[in-house]
Amino acid sequence: MEKIGKRFHQKVAIVTASTQGIGFSIARRLGLEGASVVISSRKQKNVDEAVEKLRASRIEVLGVVCHVSNSQQRKNLIEKTVQVKIWKIDVIVSNAAVNPSADAILETKESVLDKLWEINVKASILLLQDAAPHLQKGSSVVLISSIAGYQPEAALAMYGVTKTALLGLTKALASQMAPDTRVNCVAPGFVPTHFAEFLTKNEVIRKGIEEKSLLNRLGTTEEIAAATAFMASDDASYVTGETLVVAGGVPSRL
Ligand code: NAP
Repeated sequence: MEKIGKRFHQKVAIVTASTQGIGFSIARRLGLEGASVVISSRKQKNVDEAVEKLRASRIEVLGVVCHVSNSQQRKNLIEKTVQVKIWKIDVIVSNAAVNPSADAILETKESVLDKLWEINVKASILLLQDAAPHLQKGSSVVLISSIAGYQPEAALAMYGVTKTALLGLTKALASQMAPDTRVNCVAPGFVPTHFAEFLTKNEVIRKGIEEKSLLNRLGTTEEIAAATAFMASDDASYVTGETLVVAGGVPSRL
């Protein structure tokens, strides 16, 4: 970690769903690189614990409860950020997602379809609507998609479709938010987190995933964070509307 630079010095970064897993590692990485980070998730206790851990790494951090499909909490997240952080936002990483059902698409209940759309796609759009007036010139948005957006396996099919939607959303927003804000996407492969444990804790499934990866292993949250930090940083200043697949060579596209 000593080798990490300070690409986010004096920058303010919001990361949603960031009290554990990939979101937490992204917040930590941006913070170690000098950002003031605003972390959030649904539960106050999780927010408090994550804030403590980041402060222990000497990261400047604000923790706010925000269920991404709650309009008032989304607005509060943006308001708290701009109040404390002198009216500016440089980076937004939209990371929240759910996969409430492993049912086949034609058997998925309407309420589940609505929830998938609401949290995995719509909440990102609404958060960016609230944030847009505060985004700085040179700011950057990163949406977190998934390898399942390219290749939706049976247990991830409808979830995968919402992640495919983010690839299109990235292109559309990049065009509409240019030239002041870049919009990119990161598509992680399989990473052992709470979210993915129904796959990664099953020995047979885990082995199958590892075999599909050219690197013969699962990814780490830190590897997804490193790619996200690159996309969010000025090192990617001529990159917008793109998706970076971080999946150890699991097939995505040509
Ligand atoms: P995770 O380890 O289970 O962490 C989920 C985080 O999201 C927690 O901090 C949780 O905290 C918060 N959260 C859950 N629902 C929320 C909501 N509605 N609003 C706000 N916060 C919420 O999950 P993860 O694996 O890091 O997944 C993060 C992202 O990576 C997701 O977009 C996922 O689709 C994507 N991804 C993951 C993998 C993988 O293999 N892990 C692969 C590809 C893509 P609270 O419980 O306090 O809300």
